[in-house]
Amino acid sequence: MSLTAGLPGQLPGQMMDQPLLVSALLAHAERYHADTEIVSRTIEDGSLHRYTYADAARRARRLAKALARLGVRPGERVATLAWNGYRHFELYYAISGSGAVLHTVNPRLFPEQIAWIINDAEDGVVFFDLTFAPLIEKLAPQCPAVRHWVAMSDRAHRPSAAIPRLGCYEDLLAAEDDDYAWPQFDERAASALCYTSGTTGNPKGVLYSHRSVLLHCYASCLPDVFGFSARDCILPVVPMFHVNAWTIPYSAPMVGAKLVLPGAALDGPSLCELFEAEGVTFTGGVPTVWQGILQHLQKTGGKPTTLKRGVMGGSAAPPALMETFARDYGVQIDHAWGMTELSPLGVYNREKRKHGGLDDEARRALAAKQGRPPFGVEMKIVDAQGRTLPNDGEAVGELLVRGHWVVGQYFNVGAPTLRDGWFPTGDVGSIDADGYLWITDRAKDVIKSGGEWIGSIELENLACAHPAVAQAAVIGVAHPKWDERPLLVIVPKTGQRPSREELLAWYEGKIAKWWTPDDVVFVEQLPLTATGKISKLQLREQFRDHRLPGAAGG
Ligand code: AMP
Repeated sequence: MSLTAGLPGQLPGQMMDQPLLVSALLAHAERYHADTEIVSRTIEDGSLHRYTYADAARRARRLAKALARLGVRPGERVATLAWNGYRHFELYYAISGSGAVLHTVNPRLFPEQIAWIINDAEDGVVFFDLTFAPLIEKLAPQCPAVRHWVAMSDRAHRPSAAIPRLGCYEDLLAAEDDDYAWPQFDERAASALCYTSGTTGNPKGVLYSHRSVLLHCYASCLPDVFGFSARDCILPVVPMFHVNAWTIPYSAPMVGAKLVLPGAALDGPSLCELFEAEGVTFTGGVPTVWQGILQHLQKTGGKPTTLKRGVMGGSAAPPALMETFARDYGVQIDHAWGMTELSPLGVYNREKRKHGGLDDEARRALAAKQGRPPFGVEMKIVDAQGRTLPNDGEAVGELLVRGHWVVGQYFNVGAPTLRDGWFPTGDVGSIDADGYLWITDRAKDVIKSGGEWIGSIELENLACAHPAVAQAAVIGVAHPKWDERPLLVIVPKTGQRPSREELLAWYEGKIAKWWTPDDVVFVEQLPLTATGKISKLQLREQFRDHRLPGAAGG
């Protein structure tokens, strides 16, 4: 063996050269956590399906044989449009494990976008949950290259929709046995493909490798990240079609944790029922999901008995929400930041040893930050000229990252993705001397007022801390003098009617005066994106013609 890029005179290491492969995770769970459960809420009737890692591994091997029978070749993309459930879990392993590429498609996108994505990825086979049968019926004529559409059901529940070349999941499995050995191959081979939600332009594909998934998985299990163990029971609310459910379907088998997959029922009551029935210890989702859980707990007076920890990310976590969970329910929620392009883990917020003596206020300020990178991710902020800015917690610039699980090049896009070897995230923020990142905004959401920037996230966090506010969003609205000024959009708590003046006065003394929003509007709900985040794009559309007080002629 020779080193491909060694220094002159170096010796090759003499350890086994075992590739880091996704299939090894399930093989490990089958061998050492055989009787640990995977519990899923079914799509068919909402009942609970339960089996073990050993059962899942046996069925994944049968599925790998079924894929070969369908003519799936190594490297070919196989798509899923599915909720979090055991069949989706099996597909994660059968597709990647057999050398093909798992392409998880977000079913909440517009049908035209989905068809575009399926065609761009050149998916040969598409597996779908029954919920999406009507959608597939519409998509099929637009995706002529798809050889098989497979309903993830048994024969009894096979959809009646007019779908060409329709197969049935359980029939495919029934035709195979589990005498199958996971193939070994180069760990740099592609394992999975996810498209970014793409608020502007076409979505872009990020093609993960087996190596990047496994390294991400190791890092995500570290104590200062998810901190998973074989004593955990993990319920990912974040969908398996959104950055691989933050890789929980990989990290749970890595550590042998029990896995609870909630299906299509992601509302507060259904989730709280599962937390209690299954003894869930850890869960993760975007802020709107945590809001739903909180509303249910507050309404019913219930209290989770086993849930102790969780993660909130995908968009900025309102500190008031995290504090309520810690204070009223003993649930510690950590803030995290990531992106599809980062598999998704960028930073995670856990305190350091030296933070032990912080007072409450300083601790709160620290917890509001997005967090610091685990080993494997490096980051820096730069100014408009690309000059690196200091990590002093003050300077604000565009965030650039690099690391073992950061995208190097978008799928099917010729143009370079990187800038001098760094990935430009499009997020804006500061980094302090301890490496804690504070995102002030997405570059395109920053409010540009009189040549200065106003970050919407801090304004939203403050609004959410008001006792009468359930949810808040701040957007820039055109202003004749200042270009843009902030508009605060509020969903009040049930039964509450805070006044505009009261809400604006709430900001006094908390921020620079000129950051204070010019106006407040009240809505019943905020528009969400396909990944459950507040859609600033839609809000800007909705309030494009909003006339701010004092903006004569605006
Ligand atoms: P996605 O690729 O759909 O997961 O979206 C990634 C984007 O979500 C990031 O570039 C950020 O703009 C935003 N995001 C994710 N987590 C956070 C967070 N904790 N705080 C603020 N923005 C976030």
